[in-house]
Amino acid sequence: MKVVKFGGSSLATAAQFEKVLNIVVSDPARKFVVVSAPGKRFVQDIKVTDLLIECAEKTINGENNHELIEAVLERYRNIADELKLPIEFIQELHKDLLELLNRDITNKNRFLDAVKASGEDMNAKLVAKFFQSRGIDASYFSPKDAGLLVSDESGNAQVLPESYERLYTLRKIPGIIIFPGFFGYTKNGEVATFSRSGSDITGAILANGLKADLYENFTDVDAVYSVNPMIVHHPVEIRELTYREMRELSYAGFSVFHDEALIPAFRAGITVNVKNTNNPTAPGTKIVHKRDNTNGPVVGIASDKGFCSIYVSKYLMNREVGFGRKLLAILEEYGISYEHTPSGIDDISVILRQNQMDQYTEQDILERIKTELLADEVKIEHDLALIMLVGEEMKQNVGTAARATKALANAGVNIEMINQGSSEVSMMFGVKQASERKAVKAIYEEFFAVVPV
Ligand code: ASP
Repeated sequence: MKVVKFGGSSLATAAQFEKVLNIVVSDPARKFVVVSAPGKRFVQDIKVTDLLIECAEKTINGENNHELIEAVLERYRNIADELKLPIEFIQELHKDLLELLNRDITNKNRFLDAVKASGEDMNAKLVAKFFQSRGIDASYFSPKDAGLLVSDESGNAQVLPESYERLYTLRKIPGIIIFPGFFGYTKNGEVATFSRSGSDITGAILANGLKADLYENFTDVDAVYSVNPMIVHHPVEIRELTYREMRELSYAGFSVFHDEALIPAFRAGITVNVKNTNNPTAPGTKIVHKRDNTNGPVVGIASDKGFCSIYVSKYLMNREVGFGRKLLAILEEYGISYEHTPSGIDDISVILRQNQMDQYTEQDILERIKTELLADEVKIEHDLALIMLVGEEMKQNVGTAARATKALANAGVNIEMINQGSSEVSMMFGVKQASERKAVKAIYEEFFAVVPV
């Protein structure tokens, strides 16, 4: 039995709905179907979820939300019309949406979550209706009835462990189940959404709870690529990668599959197969526990911008008990999380995402480090990019770092920071943001370029 998830672009138009139906019915094992809200039809288009967020915000602020309600309904109406579904169905969706928007807005986050989640909920109902209209035994199933319980964190909900057992009972239900992604219910019976793009998470939770044989995640690319295709044209497709490798890659910008969705799949040991709705016979990419080493030491290269580095130096830092803790405690007081802390004997750098601090907070923090920790030198460097080389096989290979640094040197890129995680699954280079593309290209050439024979 397989759990299949279709992303927003796979359900953006009536033509995409037809593809989804063909994919599902072509394999009787595809019994549980998780859906996103309709996504973008073209580059400038707006996702239904974004329209709903704007609509909820306008409602909270007491502004006119009519145009946005119409824009949302228009998306479903277009699809339903082309699929020749009865008009009454859209009228029902309209009624439900208005009811939702008339709810109490005292708890703004709760309200926002309920409105956001309705994009997936309406779409799951629409997909079920469409399948039924084609004579398929399919039904919509609500996360509430399924017992998908989540923590009470609006926009960042986490699944509660008791959900898994309840979900297993869904196996008994006959026919195809269409399940909305992106949200669950709190113990108080209120909607809470996962983080953005969270339908991937729903799919993984279902796959775990149902003990599925495979979790197929349908999106709009043929595979996870070894590097960002916006930086390198037609990069090598990755056939297989491990959960850990995927986690490292998604940390630094690979957005094909949500990193939070890896945990439920990993715990249950279920293979995730990322596939293309527009080219379903392509093998896609498999995310697995263990893979063959056919890719060489590096499986993928990721990069992400927007980091800064706080450099602190103090003579005899290595002997001062509690220095690191005190330093990080200052950041904690400002609610700032850090990413890495490469260190020397008398110095340490703390790498952060720079959008967490405005100019004033930054000044405050630097000042406090200097005065409270009696540091000799404190400085900050902005606009850094992190380049990550990922691959479980790096551990077994000699010379990977040398090859990477040589490639950067040949391209004239100055390395600001080097960090290798203890697991040796990834190696990281900090460079100036302006050199990011050049650096990524150089490393890709080194590890992936096909040498002409
Ligand atoms: N529709 C939601 C979003 O845009 C969730 C998803 O598509 O996975 O974030």
